Amino acid sequence: MPTISAPQEFNEEDLYVDLDAVLGIPLHLKCEGFNFTGSVKQKAALEMVEAAEEAGRLSPGSVLVESSSGNLGVALSVIAASKGYRFVCVTDSRCNLASKRLMEALGATVHTIAEPAPEGGFLGARIAYVRKLCEEDARYVWLNQYVNPANWRAHYRYTAPGIHRSYPELDVLFVGAGTTGTLMGCARWYKEHRPGVRIVAVDSVGSVAFGHPPSPRMIPGLGSGVRPALLDEDFIDDVVLVPEPDTVRMCHRLAGRGFLFGGSTGTVVSGADRWLAERGGPAGLSSVAISPDMGERYLDTVYHTNWVQGVYGEDTLGPAHPSHE
Ligand code: PMP
Repeated sequence: MPTISAPQEFNEEDLYVDLDAVLGIPLHLKCEGFNFTGSVKQKAALEMVEAAEEAGRLSPGSVLVESSSGNLGVALSVIAASKGYRFVCVTDSRCNLASKRLMEALGATVHTIAEPAPEGGFLGARIAYVRKLCEEDARYVWLNQYVNPANWRAHYRYTAPGIHRSYPELDVLFVGAGTTGTLMGCARWYKEHRPGVRIVAVDSVGSVAFGHPPSPRMIPGLGSGVRPALLDEDFIDDVVLVPEPDTVRMCHRLAGRGFLFGGSTGTVVSGADRWLAERGGPAGLSSVAISPDMGERYLDTVYHTNWVQGVYGEDTLGPAHPSHE
């Protein structure tokens, strides 16, 4: 059985890893990290910029501004540079250094909300800063991924139909939840076109997106300190919450087999593994999970032993872990 598969007419976003062959988890992982800008957020970025252009909100001299934990910022940096707009990203200290460096290399300006987390959390502080910039200068255009329907529409138009083309007999789809753009775009498409497919949202312990209590989280991209405005739970069949140490352990298990994925992929795979195992690893079930990005942007965090031990404790990776040597 091949470990990696792609349809004959290959798009980089159509690459799947067979986790049954890699880790014995009956799951195909859709690798969105092979998008040109390195993550799933490329689709939302392009859809939001094009929608703003069509609505006449953007013109030469406009300055794009957005709050991002990293990946949307990198995608917008690429798109803004290619279209000749300036781009200002407002992020916080949980954003990877690598993502910040990428944005700056692409000509973007990066504002970082520093530790300690402000009252009301980083997200509120980032948004307040974006609002202030927009009030001060009329050239600033905020795409606002948290409420923008073009965010989920990108996944309704491209991500879900792409999965359906590759897996027409799909039974269950696992999607991580940040803004819930990916989740809601896929969920809306499937409920409309293939309502029998179960949509399972995967989130971090400490995220309040699905009404659970808040607690500190360190993995960027996934999880939310406020209820996402785009989320409509009527479209979601199940929710799985994953503790961050399990996220990190799953990333290291995958890396140990040669697959270096981003932090939130560890969350989604760990949640999917638990959901499938609790149902006895249903034989013959066709399941796909979406991997938002690859691991190079996380070398100083998820894949750095000192960082992992400092944040989650000495025993997080276990004594036999090769990176302890
Ligand atoms: N994982 C990573 C690494 C991300 O950058 C994002 C986007 N914030 C997500 C998951 C969640 O995607 P969405 O915003 O579409 O819910």
